[in-house]
Amino acid sequence: MTKRANSSSAAREGLRQAPFASTPGKRGEVSGGNAEAGVSEARRASEDKAEGVASAARRAVPRTRGEVATATPTMAEIFGPGGLLEKCHPGYEFRRSQLEMAEIVEDAFRNKHHAILEAGTGTGKTLAYLLPAIRSGRRVVVSTATKSLQEQLFNKDIPFLQKHFAPEIKVAVMKGRGNFLCRQKVHLMEGQPVLKGMDEIDWFTQMREWEKVTETGDRAELDFLPDDAELWQKLDARRETCTGQKCPEFSRCFITHMHQRAAAADIIIVNHHLFFADLALRRDDFGSILPEYSAVVFDEAHEIEDVASEYFGRQISNYRFEELCRDAEHALRLTQAPAKRGAATGTALLKRSARLRERARAFFETFPVLAVSARGEPREGRFAFEPQQRASFLEQNREAYDELVRAVKSLEAEIAALPSKPEELVAIARRGFELRGELTFLLESNERNYVYWFERRGKGVFLAATPIDVSGILRERLFEQFDTAVLTSATLTVGGRFDFFKQRLGIDGARERVLPHEFDFRRQALLYIPVNLPDVRGPQFAPKAAEEIAGLLKITHGRAFCLFTSYAQMNDVYERVCRLVDFPLLVQGTAPRSVLLERFRRTPGAVLFATASFWQGVDVPGEQLSCVIIDRLPFAVPTDPVVAARVRALQENGCNAFAEYQVPEAVLALKQGFGRLIRSKTDRGVLAILDNRIQRMDYGKIFFASLPEYGLTQDLAEVARFMRNPA
Ligand code: SF4
Repeated sequence: MTKRANSSSAAREGLRQAPFASTPGKRGEVSGGNAEAGVSEARRASEDKAEGVASAARRAVPRTRGEVATATPTMAEIFGPGGLLEKCHPGYEFRRSQLEMAEIVEDAFRNKHHAILEAGTGTGKTLAYLLPAIRSGRRVVVSTATKSLQEQLFNKDIPFLQKHFAPEIKVAVMKGRGNFLCRQKVHLMEGQPVLKGMDEIDWFTQMREWEKVTETGDRAELDFLPDDAELWQKLDARRETCTGQKCPEFSRCFITHMHQRAAAADIIIVNHHLFFADLALRRDDFGSILPEYSAVVFDEAHEIEDVASEYFGRQISNYRFEELCRDAEHALRLTQAPAKRGAATGTALLKRSARLRERARAFFETFPVLAVSARGEPREGRFAFEPQQRASFLEQNREAYDELVRAVKSLEAEIAALPSKPEELVAIARRGFELRGELTFLLESNERNYVYWFERRGKGVFLAATPIDVSGILRERLFEQFDTAVLTSATLTVGGRFDFFKQRLGIDGARERVLPHEFDFRRQALLYIPVNLPDVRGPQFAPKAAEEIAGLLKITHGRAFCLFTSYAQMNDVYERVCRLVDFPLLVQGTAPRSVLLERFRRTPGAVLFATASFWQGVDVPGEQLSCVIIDRLPFAVPTDPVVAARVRALQENGCNAFAEYQVPEAVLALKQGFGRLIRSKTDRGVLAILDNRIQRMDYGKIFFASLPEYGLTQDLAEVARFMRNPA
């Protein structure tokens, strides 16, 4: 018998004692938790339902009230040295922080309280929350920010746990509806002359065959379909075009199946967008996306405020109107309304739709270009659109606005007047009504807790209202409604404290812990801060920064991320560095993000120039990434309307917004950016910050107090020595 087989059978012997069997399955059997009082009766009823789904096998071991059965291994017996994990996974390495995290999470599930845990890369966070979640006997939603973490959970961690610990556990992944195929649209489209060009005909033929065999209908299975294929927009299962239970395909629908899988699951994996879309829907009593659940784990929890702000806010764009018109025309053709109801009806509807498109274009064109770049091009960005600005905008553009509202109403009325109408057209009328409501809210309402703004991006014009402060909403809707929320990430603390994070999210009474790092940062990373660079805000900075970057790249043989806080600075410095080095340089914007990352991983000596979207969720372990250079301390742009409104609100409350909001935000962003470098115990490299305010200014101390204990130097020769002599 091999060593592995021996270990495995030993582990199974231990596991036969059902590590998941002992957790209390009913609320009444649990000793009182400190958050219990805040849970509403309605929520209690739904929690009981959510808890009721847990597999019977996990409740099988007898126990006394509030006690863990003695046969159940402790977290130390699972995660500890010589524990069950080590027995069933030969490569498993004991990590003290992982064990501690698992114990805290288990305690949160058992005693029903919230927990906030800062745990760095390499802690093994996912197992440390999945194992306690599984044996909690409760339905737990696990929410992540990135697709890669979702894939890791579903394709790696869950199969491992199912194999060795809980074969009966049911896990479902839920994604946004736009990821799935609509069967009804495929059937309606068959034989209709709505496809454009040979490519669409070919793709549609393949998708028709795929629709017959796929179990999930998930677009991710279609490797032949380009990311930007318009065909997908005609066939996806978006809510706006779905006729729900009236659809003849409802029982076979991929969305219906996804919901059924989730309703039967113990663990549901989602992303933050889906989670907060669901939470916002529950607010409005518009139903829900997720089935009832009893507890939630947020991994990559540092992203929650931004995502929640988006879903508790309101937004429309010119694209939404374009889509409405396109879908209306498409629905009309697919349902053959002209033939069924007379050509005149179809023609009238097409006319209404064409007029709406025209009115929407005219209206969105009225939005001013408020700034131009150095080259005289319209500058993209977000601009405040506060009550006074909206009033004067409406005064100048009242006609365009009224015409647009009238055009939407006419489309709705035309559909409403049809004697018998296909569900697809009813859905169009409903969308028109909703869109009109959003438009009116964004132009005419005046809610104190919202900041109103518009943005020009490419050909898009976006109008939005964002909550200035989501803490009250989250406290009421999330943390007081659910008794257990576990929040974890590698970057939650500022100066070793969670105060900023807790205050921004409105979470009180949570157990909190900063878990010790698993990496030896002093040995693995050297932080370099050049002293002779000019102030980052001055015109002399870019040429000098380019020289400094070139010097660093020569030492690290390329293999670097150069991360910038603005596109303009990135492009400027990139042009200069191009002339100074021979390494293969990649720059954001020249290819999709995933393609650039893949090129970076595969190209020896590559250097990537990028902005905010590469500061987080990017993982390049090994020597290929040996240096991360950051141009400036990542303070949010103070003129951004949301940032400005948040600063103003804090000032009005007598707070020091710079110290209490802008600095902590920048600290967390810097921690994220630097976090790209060291992804394993064998990684080594250099971190450089070219903004010497971190040393000159008083607030720099809080940055240093928040970063891991990297080695520190101001001397480029020291950097060269560090790179030459692996420790
Ligand atoms: S229920 Fe909705 S998404 Fe599903 S097939 Fe029917 S129309 Fe499409």
